[in-house]
Amino acid sequence: GATIGILGGGQLGRMLSVAAARLGFRTHIFEPGANPPAADVAHHVTTAGYDDIDALKAFANAVDVVTYEFENIPTEALDVIETIRTIHPNREALRTSQDRLTEKTFLEGLDLRVAPFADIASAADLEDAMQTIGTPSILKTRRFGYDGKGQSRLLSADDAPTALEDMAGSPAVLEGFVNFTSEVSVIAARSPSGEVACFDPGENVHRDGILHTTTVPANLSASLRMDAVLMAAKILNALDYVGVLGVELFVTPQGFIVNEIAPRVHNSGHWTQNGCAIDQFEQHIRAIAGWPLGDGSRYADVVMENLIGDDMDRVPELAKQRDTALHLYGKTDVKAGRKMGHVNIIKR
Ligand code: ATP
Ligand code: MG
Ligand code: MG
Repeated sequence: GATIGILGGGQLGRMLSVAAARLGFRTHIFEPGANPPAADVAHHVTTAGYDDIDALKAFANAVDVVTYEFENIPTEALDVIETIRTIHPNREALRTSQDRLTEKTFLEGLDLRVAPFADIASAADLEDAMQTIGTPSILKTRRFGYDGKGQSRLLSADDAPTALEDMAGSPAVLEGFVNFTSEVSVIAARSPSGEVACFDPGENVHRDGILHTTTVPANLSASLRMDAVLMAAKILNALDYVGVLGVELFVTPQGFIVNEIAPRVHNSGHWTQNGCAIDQFEQHIRAIAGWPLGDGSRYADVVMENLIGDDMDRVPELAKQRDTALHLYGKTDVKAGRKMGHVNIIKR
């Protein structure tokens, strides 16, 4: 059988490996950290840094196709892999989505709405942006942010100096604060032949900057539901994308504003594991393996709740609940803010 190479051994790599195994594939994880969650379920693990050229070459040669579970893979590592194997989603998709400035510029170029934004490379840039974007606003590092990390909120111009200090010299963007009525996301997939399939949009609630719950169906009108799907398809096609993509949207009275895109399976798509015949992980494996996309239509109402840090104490209780599917990542050290697992609760 074919082997799928996955860069990154976190919970997303783990769940991709499980889905791949169900379709008869083997997975080979490349991960610098010791004992990654994906190691328990993958066929093979390479523990090496992204600067280890020999290890990268050996990894690429050992697999049939390469994918990734996070967007911050060093360019140099991809340069090495690309000479040996196809990378799905492609380099352009990764480049576009790993930098908030590139990402927003790209989305605007597709005539999709984003929050007002400005490139912030200096205190002078931030001062200028205070004149145009003003407050409330959010300063975000261009790269490496996740779970709300690398962000600082500005309620008034007085907050500018501290916000800039928080960036610790990293290039940043200032974003106007969007007064959204809700947040939703679309998990969409595209195959090499250009076939597109979208899962039903989910409604997301965050707590302390971290995704707390995703609820399907989202409270959206039929026309917004259609808009969400068309926007996702537009993004996928523009990037000549292969695989699963997550699109985070703010809902406003004037329609959608795109928050960000993630070139991978997405936490807000975990509900698909118990709400669809084909979940986002299998859909991604199908797409990158050149299989037909699967049927991702939703057959149940689901609430996905992340189990973060001490939420693990609730597992014995949750294990007794009806209509409740536990998904635990096998992480041994519980830390505050760390995603340990999630639960999909079927609503009847
Ligand atoms: P993720 O873990 O989803 O990758 P992230 O660290 O990349 O998150 P964002 O998605 O940019 O961060 O922001 C996290 C949350 O903060 C958003 O889901 C939203 O609730 C809020 N937020 C971010 N930007 C804005 C904005 N411009 N206006 C209002 N709220 C915002
Ligand atoms: Mg993000
Ligand atoms: Mg986000």
